[in-house]
Amino acid sequence: MNRTDFPILNEQVYNRPLVYLDNAATTQKPQAVLNAIIEGYTHWNANIHRGVHHLSQVATQHHEAARQRVADFLGAQSANEIIFTKGATDSINMLAFSFGEAYIHEGDEIIISQMEHHSNIVPWQMLCERKKAILKVIPLNDDLSLNIDAFQALISPKTKLVSVTHVSNVLGIINPVEQIIRIAHSHNIPVCIDGAQSAPHLPINVQQLDCDFFVCSAHKMYGPTGLGILYGKELLLNNLPPAEGGGEMIEHVRFEHTTYNTLPYKFEAGTPNFIGSYAFAAALDYIDSIGMTTIQQHEAELTSYAEQRLKEIPNIRIYAQGLTKAGVISFNVGTIHPFDIGTLLDHMGIAVRTGHHCAEPLIDYLQVPGTIRASFGLYNDKADIDTFIAALHKAVDMLS
Ligand code: PLP
Repeated sequence: MNRTDFPILNEQVYNRPLVYLDNAATTQKPQAVLNAIIEGYTHWNANIHRGVHHLSQVATQHHEAARQRVADFLGAQSANEIIFTKGATDSINMLAFSFGEAYIHEGDEIIISQMEHHSNIVPWQMLCERKKAILKVIPLNDDLSLNIDAFQALISPKTKLVSVTHVSNVLGIINPVEQIIRIAHSHNIPVCIDGAQSAPHLPINVQQLDCDFFVCSAHKMYGPTGLGILYGKELLLNNLPPAEGGGEMIEHVRFEHTTYNTLPYKFEAGTPNFIGSYAFAAALDYIDSIGMTTIQQHEAELTSYAEQRLKEIPNIRIYAQGLTKAGVISFNVGTIHPFDIGTLLDHMGIAVRTGHHCAEPLIDYLQVPGTIRASFGLYNDKADIDTFIAALHKAVDMLS
C-alpha cells in the first residue's frame, strides 16, 4: 500500500532491499511530509506569534491551523486542548510535573500498569519521590492482558490519577481503555492514555474515549521527530499550573510576579516547533487520504498473517498470541539471544528491534533478556513478511 510515497523504502541495506519492520520505534515519512518541511524552511520560516511582519504571520497561521488539524484528527472539542510538546515522553513529563504540583500530596496514589513504556513509568516515579506519593501497578493475567479485577482492587480514596498505555509497544495488545476510563471515572479519578502506539494504528476520538489526557508522538505517525501532543480536557488544563517557564507562556512578567498566558500557550514555553507542526498536519492529511480504518484493517491483516507464519519457526514463543494486536508482534526463539537474531536479520536487510523496548518491568516479568519485535506500518505488505520469515528461518538455522 502506497510504498512509492516513501522514498526511504528504496534504500538498500547491505546490498539488499530494505524491509522496515521497526515502525513502533519510528515510522518513515511520505514525500508529502518531506515537502512540507522543505516548503516551510524555503518559503515562510519566521518565529511565530510575536512578529508583525508577513512571514511571521504566515508561519503563525500554519502553526495554529496545524493545531486545529490535530484537534480534528484526535476528536478534541477545541484546539485549546492541544498542547504541542517535544514528543509523548515530554507530554507525560509535563503532565506529571503540572498535575503533581496541583494535586499530589504525601500518601496519594497513582496507578500505572505492568506493561508501560519507561516514559509512562519514570515521570510518575519521579513525581512520587518528590511528593512522597505511591505508585501502584496493574498486574497482568496469564495471557498478558491487563487484569481489570486487580485494577479495581487497586483503587482507593487516595488514588489521584490513572495512566495506562492504549497499545503495548512490546506486545501490541490493545488495552480496554474505555473500560478503565469508565471504572476510574466512577471514582472521580482522571485518566491519562499513552497513545504513542495507538494513534498510528487506530482511529482515535478523545471525546468518545472520554479520557482526560492523551499523549502521542508525531514521528510514530509518519510525521517529523521532535514533536508530540499533550491533549487535555480544557477545564482540567485550565486548572493546572504551567510546567515550564519562558517566552510564549506568559501574559506579563515583572520581577515581583508573572501572570500566565491562556491555553494552549500556558504550556508552550519557548519557540515551538512550527515547521514540525506544519509537517505533522501534512502527515495527518496523508493518513486521512488513505483512511485510518483502512490502515487499521490492513495492519490487522498483516499482523495476523505474520503471527500465522511465525508459527512455522521451531521453538518460537509468540507473546500474547491470539490477542487482538495493533501492528506489533514480539517473540523469542528457544534460548537464542534476541540480539543475535536481530543482527543476522539486519544483515539480510530486515530492520526489527531487539531488547527491552524501554519496558524493562514487562521484560523482567516475562523472564527473558529481551524480545524480537516486528512492527508494521501502512506501507508494509505480505511480501515484506515473507522476506522476513525466510530470513528468520535462515537466522535460526545458523544459530541453532
Ligand atoms: N509510550 C509508548 C507506549 C511508546 O512506545 C513510546 C516510544 O516508543 C513512548 C511512550 C515514548 O515516545 P517518544 O520517545 O516519542 O517520546
